[in-house]
Parts: sequence; C-alpha cells; structure tokens
Amino acid sequence: MRSGLLTLLSLAVPATAGELSLSSPIDCDLNGPCYIQQYVDHDPSKGASDFACSGLSYDGHKGTDFALPSYDMIDDGVDVLASATGVVAGLRDGIEDVRFSRDRAAALKGRECGNGVVLRHPDGWETQYCHLRQGSVTVVRGQTVQKGDVLGEVGMSGRAEFPHVHLSVRHKGAVIDPFDPDGTITCGAVETDTLWTDLPPYRAGGIVNIGTSGAVPDFSDIRANTVMGPDESSDALVIYAFLFGTQKGDVIHLVLEGPDETVIKKDIQLERSQAQSFRAIGKKRGRKNWPKGDYTGTATLLRQDQIIDSQSLSLSLP
Ligand SMILES: [Zn+2]
Repeated sequence: MRSGLLTLLSLAVPATAGELSLSSPIDCDLNGPCYIQQYVDHDPSKGASDFACSGLSYDGHKGTDFALPSYDMIDDGVDVLASATGVVAGLRDGIEDVRFSRDRAAALKGRECGNGVVLRHPDGWETQYCHLRQGSVTVVRGQTVQKGDVLGEVGMSGRAEFPHVHLSVRHKGAVIDPFDPDGTITCGAVETDTLWTDLPPYRAGGIVNIGTSGAVPDFSDIRANTVMGPDESSDALVIYAFLFGTQKGDVIHLVLEGPDETVIKKDIQLERSQAQSFRAIGKKRGRKNWPKGDYTGTATLLRQDQIIDSQSLSLSLP
C-alpha cells in the first residue's frame, strides 16, 4: 500500500508542471505589521467567501489584498515585488494615493486598479499588481523582471480604501485563487496545493495595531497612525485596537494596567462582521493627574473562546 501511495504522489508532480510558482508581492512581514485583508471571492452568489470560508472577501473580488497597517507606511516606501519571473505587459502610473470614496467612482472608471503593473508569464499565466504609490512604478513595458524584483511601492491609488497591493492571478484569462487554484472549497482546512513557493500565513482576522491616547481617537487618525499619546494630565486614558476580518460574536478584550493598579479593562462583544473596525475603552481622570510610571496595555481577540490574536504595548508617563 505504501508504495502505491508513493506512486500516486510522484504522478501528481508532472500534472502541476507548467503551473506558476509565486512569492509574496509585498516586502513586509504578513504576520505583522502587514496582513492579508481580502482573498478571492469563491461565492458565485451575492455573498462572499474566501477559500477557507472565513469571510475575508467581498462579492466579486478577483484577487488578494496585501495590506499595510497605516497610511504613513506608504511614505516609508514598502516595495511591491514581482511574484514570478515575467515580462511587463502593461503598466500605469500618475494616479494619486487618495482613499476611495463613492463620489470618486465615476472619475476612476476603467482605472480602478490605480497605478499598476501586469506581468506575462509562460503557459498563459498573468499576474497584476494594483494600487501602487503614485510615481513609484520602476519598470517599463517589455522589460523582463525576475521573481522578487521591485516593480514599485505599495500605495492607495485607484479603488482602494486602505493601503495595499492587490494581486490578481489569471490563467488563460480566468481568475485563479493562488491559495486554492483548483477552486474546491474545504471550509476551515488549510490548503496544501497552492501556487505559493512559501505559503503566506492565513490569519482569519486579527489585530492590525493597538495604541493609547487621551481621548477616543478618530478612525482616520488610527488609519494614518497620527493618534496622539496621552500625558499625565490627559482628560482620559484610552486604549484602542484596530481590527480586521472580525466576525459577529468575536470578543475583543482590552486592558490597561497602571503603575499601581488596573486602570481599566473590558470585554467587548462584536455585534456584526466587519472588514475593518476599531474599539476603544477609556477612563476619565479624577481630580489628580494620572500616576507617574510605566503602563502596559493588551488587546486580545477571541473567537468562540479561542485566542486568535493578541498585541501588547508599554507606555510611560514620566
Ligand atoms: Zn483587491
């Protein structure tokens, strides 16, 4: 029996020859600070499902979104990399990095990809990289690029609501999910037959980042990483968590420990599934300033009582 199995495995190899072998299109750790926000939609109806059925997709999404945690990382310059060796078949640059809103849909019609690059690979394969930073595209049409070469930088051009590179993979014109190229969904199972040379981590939602402030921050400041930290005379001490891919029923546990005692802690149950959201808890200052010293904050995301992500920070009030 054992040799029979081995025969089957060795037969499977020639069948995959001619497939594309992909590496990550983003020069950033996908276990944090970066993350994958959305996968290819496998649901033919109006709903949406990623290959693992965790809802990390939206209706009609034809690629995978590799995200930066905040706008300021666009300015830092995070490289977009060729996922496979190929020839530049198309490109566009010159579109500004502005967060998409519905009133800009008409102006962006036909240019939803923003600044982007299309690579042509052997055997009818194509990869496309979208939403690159304005002015960052470094390749020219007809150029051969090697796997891992820089194509440009991650931005937010075109139809993008957060900074990311959208990777589309096509074979003879058909959309292929690199995490599930044969298209058969097995909910909850980890796919082994993928197009990845090194499989990116699958995170079924998680914490993008956490922070503290002297008042409940605006989501726009959290997205931009411009939230001001608290000081000893702040009106309140607030801890917040920026979340992605959360599901209805998830619990976010937030706690802020002061030098002497717990300042505040709370479990918040999430009442609906959301692609991106944030939650904050805080405590108002009494008559005296906040105690001087070291504080620690922790956010823990739980799903059906299992911890799926956790982040901590330290804060010093001198
Ligand atoms: Zn996308």
